[in-house]
This record gives sequence, structure tokens and C-alpha cells, in this order.
Amino acid sequence: MNPYHRPAWIEINLGQLQQNFAIINQDKLAALSLLFVAKDQAYGHGAFECARVALEHDVRMLGVATISEAVELREKGITAPILIFGERLEDQLELCLQYDLTIFVNTVQKATWYARYAAKWQKTPAVHIEIDTGLSRYGIRWTEAVETVAQIMDIPGIRFEGIMSHFAMSDELDKSYALLQLQRFQEVLTGLKCKGINLPLTHICNTGGFLDLPHAHFDMVRTGILPLGVYPSQVCRRIPGIRPIMSVKAKIVLIRDLLPGDKVGYGMHYTAPSARKIAVIPLGYGDGFPRVRNTGCVLIHGKRAPIVGGNAMDVMMVDISDIPAAQIGDEVVVMGKMGTEEISVHELARWKQSVSYDILTNWSWRLPRVYMKEGNL
Ligand SMILES: *Cc1c(COP(=O)(O)O)cnc(C)c1O
Repeated sequence: MNPYHRPAWIEINLGQLQQNFAIINQDKLAALSLLFVAKDQAYGHGAFECARVALEHDVRMLGVATISEAVELREKGITAPILIFGERLEDQLELCLQYDLTIFVNTVQKATWYARYAAKWQKTPAVHIEIDTGLSRYGIRWTEAVETVAQIMDIPGIRFEGIMSHFAMSDELDKSYALLQLQRFQEVLTGLKCKGINLPLTHICNTGGFLDLPHAHFDMVRTGILPLGVYPSQVCRRIPGIRPIMSVKAKIVLIRDLLPGDKVGYGMHYTAPSARKIAVIPLGYGDGFPRVRNTGCVLIHGKRAPIVGGNAMDVMMVDISDIPAAQIGDEVVVMGKMGTEEISVHELARWKQSVSYDILTNWSWRLPRVYMKEGNL
């Protein structure tokens, strides 16, 4: 442990990441390509480290959300195709050519601009086209898609590699809206086929769709959260052997005795009902732990130690009265497994009344990431 750091850190088990990819590859049809979504530092796990493992496991493309995310991967030596989700403004187009990034082109205007810059760079860049089938976010509205796609594809100098859409809800039991989106997408594809237009790569599924909508797989699925070992919801299909690769850990830095009536933490939200023993853990909401009051717990000696009072930006207090063996310097699991107990990302999401994606991406980068090949996660 670097003595400059507080004893609070995140372990990323790259061995388990390899296993998760191997399990996903076994689960899917061989012809189905994978796009690994590495946006927002692979949901807080480290984009480069995870992308490298992904590319050793037959992943065809990487997906990111911003140009800087893509450029970071290129500058670290990643040469695989990178698809940037969302819209690029005109002043970002040349960077995309410079770094050989794959972008979305959803208007004739953007195709015209991009073709002009591509000619200047003497490149024929790959692009994908996004169809909005009901998320009302990016892409061409399904009702106008056949006409517009045909017009866009008339622009020479660009390689139209893919056509895709994105589900608004694919991981809940009720699949009716996802099926409506799929039907709209299929109508667009059929309409294009009638015009003799066929793009090499068709994709609509995220993890939820990959798990639960096999007839929507087409040529490629885009998966971000599943290789990290986390399911997008409690109800989607499970694949045995997939395990989380992230653990959040700290050490006890202080142990205190409370007398009956003592208050704990900002706002005095906890009053000791009797003599208690508490441990001070140097990790708080500034590190991405949910801002809670008398809610949640951590694992010490494999047991749950409840949080008392409200946690602060950098520190929280937990009741260890039932864990008499606990000592200063002992390891604390804030998220992950210890012995037979586990605090899952879904449990943290419940304390925050949010979703697992929010918990994962919120762990602060002041918690150093420690990459391990093995681990007892
Ligand atoms: C984030 C994202 C994904 C990945 O979603 P997961 O549920 O993590 O698999 C797929 N496609 C698009 C367009 C996204 O923005």
C-alpha cells in the first residue's frame, strides 16, 4: 500500500474478468460478435485494463461515450475498432478521422461534412447509423428512417458499416416495449432491404437484450456491465460462473468506545442506546459511497457492521460491538465478498435508491485501482 494513500482502495480482479468473457463466449453463438462497452472508464473499472482483456477474448469492437475516452485507448496502443456512442459536432469530426474512430452519422448534413473531411485526410472511415425506435435520444426516428438512411448512404467517401438501435427497457420482466422497438427496427431493416440496402453489422442489444432477447441479437451485441460480473437487473437471465470483478476495501483506522447517549456524526443522527464500540473507516460519500444515515453496513471479520449516524465525505463510523476481535488495521469490505457474506452492488444501489450502474460509475478515482490476476472475490 502506497503510504501517500489512505487505506481505502478498489481491487479489480482481471482473472475473473477473463473468466467472465470466456463464459459469455461459451454462452453465445459463435457467429455473434461482441462489442465491449468501455465508456466512463469501463463503469469505473479502468477502460484500458478491461479493454485489453476484452480484446484477448475475441471482442470485435469497443464502445465509448466521448472522444477523449477513445483517444486515451488509442494513445495506450489499442488499435481495435472503437465506436463512439452519441453525436459528434462538426468541430470533432477531424479528430475522429485522425484517430480512426467509428462514429454515428445520422443526417445527410453530417455525412456531407464527414465525407469532405475524409477526403482531406485521404481516408474512407467506417460509420454506423442509429435508428431511434422509441428512446427519443439519438438517431433517426423509425418512421423516417428508410428514406433518410437511403439519402445518407448516397454520400460517397464513407463506409457504412453498421445500423443499430437501443432499447429503453430490456432487463425487466415486461418486454412489451422492447418487442415494440424490435418490431420498429425490423420494419426499417425490411424497408431498406426492399431498396437493396444491407449494412454488414446490425445491432440493438445491450446486456439485457443479450440475456433475454435472443431473437434480437442480429450480428453483434453491445455489453458493458455483464463482463464486469454485474447483472443489469434482478430478473434477467443468469449465466452460471459470472462473478463481480470489483471489490471496494478499506482498513479500520481507529476504534472508539461510546457511552450511552453519545452522538455520532454530522447532524447527530445516531445516539448510542448503550455502551457501544465503533470503528472509524476512512471512506465516505466523496469516494462514491451513498450518502446514508443509519443505513447500510460494511464487512469486518466476515460479519456485517452497521453504519451509525450519517457518513461524511471522507469517513464513516460502523458499530463493531458484535465483532470484539476487530482491531485497528483490519481489512474492511465496503463492496464485495468476505467469507460467506457479500455486499453486492445491488445492495448499495438499494441504500441509494438508485441502480447498479450509478454505484459502479460513482466510485471516485481518489480510490486507487489495484489490478489483480487472482483474488478471493
Ligand atoms: C451503455 C450502453 C450499452 C451497454 O449497456 P449494458 O447494459 O452495460 O450492457 C449498450 N449500448 C449503448 C448505446 C449504450 O449507451
